[in-house]
Amino acid sequence: MKGKAGIRVTGAAGLLSLDASQLNFISVSVNGEPAKYSFDENLHKLRVRGVPARSSLVDVEYTKQVSDDMIFGLYKSKYGKDYILATDLEPAEARTVFPCVDEPAFKAVFRLQITTEEGLGVISNTPIVGRQEVENGRIRFTFEETPRMSTYLFFFAIGKFEETKLTADGIDVITATRPGQAKNSEVALKISAESLVEYQRYFGVPYPLKKLHIVALPEYHTGAMENWGAISSREGYALITENTSFAQKSRGAMSMVHEVAHQWFGDLVTMKWWDDLWLNESFATFMSYMMTQRLRPDWGMWGIFLRDEGFRALNLDALSTTHPVQGHVKSVEESSHTFDAISYGKGACVLRMLESYVGEESFKEGVSDYLKKFSFSNASGKDLWQSLGKASGLPVVRVAREWLTRPGYPLIEARANKGRIVLTQSPFRLLGGKASGLWPVPINLRADGKEMSVFLDRRSAEVDASASSELILNLGRKGFYVTLYDEPGYERIAANFSRMGSNDRAGILFDLYLLLQAGLVEPELFVRFVSLCGANPDAITTQIVCEQLMELTAIANGSPILRKIGPGFYPPLLEAFGEDTRPGEPPFVGATREYLTSQYASLDEGYAEKMSARFEHFSRLDPNLKAAAAVGYAVTNGARAEKPLQNLAKSLQGEVDRAKVYQALCSFRNPKLVEHTLELGISGQVSRSDSAYPLIYSAFNPAARDVLWRWLTRRYDTLREMYGGSQQFYLYMGYVIPLCGVEREAEVRRFLSGKRLKEGGSSVTRILELLHINARLRRRLLLPEN
Ligand SMILES: [Zn+2]
Repeated sequence: MKGKAGIRVTGAAGLLSLDASQLNFISVSVNGEPAKYSFDENLHKLRVRGVPARSSLVDVEYTKQVSDDMIFGLYKSKYGKDYILATDLEPAEARTVFPCVDEPAFKAVFRLQITTEEGLGVISNTPIVGRQEVENGRIRFTFEETPRMSTYLFFFAIGKFEETKLTADGIDVITATRPGQAKNSEVALKISAESLVEYQRYFGVPYPLKKLHIVALPEYHTGAMENWGAISSREGYALITENTSFAQKSRGAMSMVHEVAHQWFGDLVTMKWWDDLWLNESFATFMSYMMTQRLRPDWGMWGIFLRDEGFRALNLDALSTTHPVQGHVKSVEESSHTFDAISYGKGACVLRMLESYVGEESFKEGVSDYLKKFSFSNASGKDLWQSLGKASGLPVVRVAREWLTRPGYPLIEARANKGRIVLTQSPFRLLGGKASGLWPVPINLRADGKEMSVFLDRRSAEVDASASSELILNLGRKGFYVTLYDEPGYERIAANFSRMGSNDRAGILFDLYLLLQAGLVEPELFVRFVSLCGANPDAITTQIVCEQLMELTAIANGSPILRKIGPGFYPPLLEAFGEDTRPGEPPFVGATREYLTSQYASLDEGYAEKMSARFEHFSRLDPNLKAAAAVGYAVTNGARAEKPLQNLAKSLQGEVDRAKVYQALCSFRNPKLVEHTLELGISGQVSRSDSAYPLIYSAFNPAARDVLWRWLTRRYDTLREMYGGSQQFYLYMGYVIPLCGVEREAEVRRFLSGKRLKEGGSSVTRILELLHINARLRRRLLLPEN
């Protein structure tokens, strides 16, 4: 690629230092005169001398080699023999495409021209305003000037596109896909357009651009990215149809709603520095659930919020390696470590708690005030708390500060005692150890049918209320804490379980799982409540328990106490939810069915055989049953199923269905076959978007534990290179190693101690801590019953 960057500079006086990397410079001039410059590839700096203090124009001519291996920066997103050339620049890859000051607070106006071969489409942040034929039949496209924006949000893509368009409130919303895929982008298109309209109303600030693209990229290394006016996404999120299973459809749709929220929160108003990245992400995460719930009330989004955001954040934030949501970030490299469940999930949970604390109206008013005040500019968390405080008249700054600038969260112990409820808080850590501090905790509770709010900001408080038949804290699960009841407390909850709300039940199971991991409750208590879930069919709680059981099976299969769970859980729930969609049922029931059927097919051979019979009609199958049919087919047929499944994975165009086939290819009882799947994932024969599926799915197959660990040790460096040393790699390792390493903690520790690389930050320590917690839990669960 040949590039020419003209940079208008004011007040540089002498030396101008620009961020630049992986570029080859041809010439640099200042106001038309050749200038002296130097380039330091190690420091990523292009230094231009003799820049006058007054306004000057610095022109830089350069070339760039686009690598075949990269999957971010400026990269080739491949499909078949073709590719789309696209950018993915967060946090600091803009400097690999053009010289710039690559920091979020240095906003600039961009005027982009792209010259390319005829027959190719081009997409960028703003609409095309000019198309001109130049030498050799090439075409020069000119894009409309952008508003002031940060470099990491800049985007362009060149390739063959098929587009579908909708107009919403006068704004063009357009999906762009590779040829032949436009028909699959309708769900993403519709929900993006609807959310754009709703956000304009909610924020009270018009969408600042003329169009919004959703660009589906065949190879993509994360989920999606909020480039201003041109969201990019993996196909698995953007190419979803009404016939996609609900779990994937809701995930994809919500990811679009998340990126649309960023068009205001992140793009129009941007964090000053990466230490406030959480503000972007927590907010977009929280908003995406709130907005999707508004647009699709029957999707049950707050239940999904608990399943996907709440628990993971509670889990990681109870480690000694946790970090405050609002951390101190010294360098751009460090910023990438903060892209985790704490920035996204805990931040979103705290925002939900704050919304519940200040009330929906004041929250909306405060957000709108903040967006208006800082449009086209930068702001920090404090600015948002001030706006929320002003709108509500409540001490939001203090509550937000305590929750966001400190790591961790409290354990609230609750007991009823002679007409009084005693609440006590202490810091919660999965491995115990020293931690101190008090949180200001807004607590909603119900005691003997009466709901009340308590603001606990001391160690302990007593509430005058009788709780002789019922005491439940964290109503609706809006607080970010874990509750431990005393023995009579759990008896009362068990007696009331069938009458409790869905989020409250899910919350009890969440807390019990964390308390089990921490060794604060006996496995028998957890198992008792899992059985209660078996007897009380509830869609979201069932999904959450399925995830817990999947993890426990991976950690300690064969445990005597776990063996007791299966029969009391899966069969009654399969009976209750059935295997086929029932007319009028809420869509999230379909997701529950997918969880139950695919998981039970991997655990029970009889059931696997039953589901295997459905595999023959895979393409026409109810989308929520596809995973179970494929898993059942693999478990039942073993080696005979391998080739047909591999061929199916290669022939399927849709990523969502391919993922289900990988799940099956990882569920073989014969570990050798699982190893073939792991190799296939990195063979270059399948889309690079798919490479993580074999890794994650095989980690949940206890039969593949040894093979997966040995394979990982051999392929660790290859995998790391595949992800270009990005945080995505450590994210995957954080899922996989704490499961497959559970029997060989010391060996894993030795192996990883030789792999502490700078880009990993505290990730390795975190992985080892998760592993230690799982290994300890395994030992407890494997104890013979007395
Ligand atoms: Zn985001």
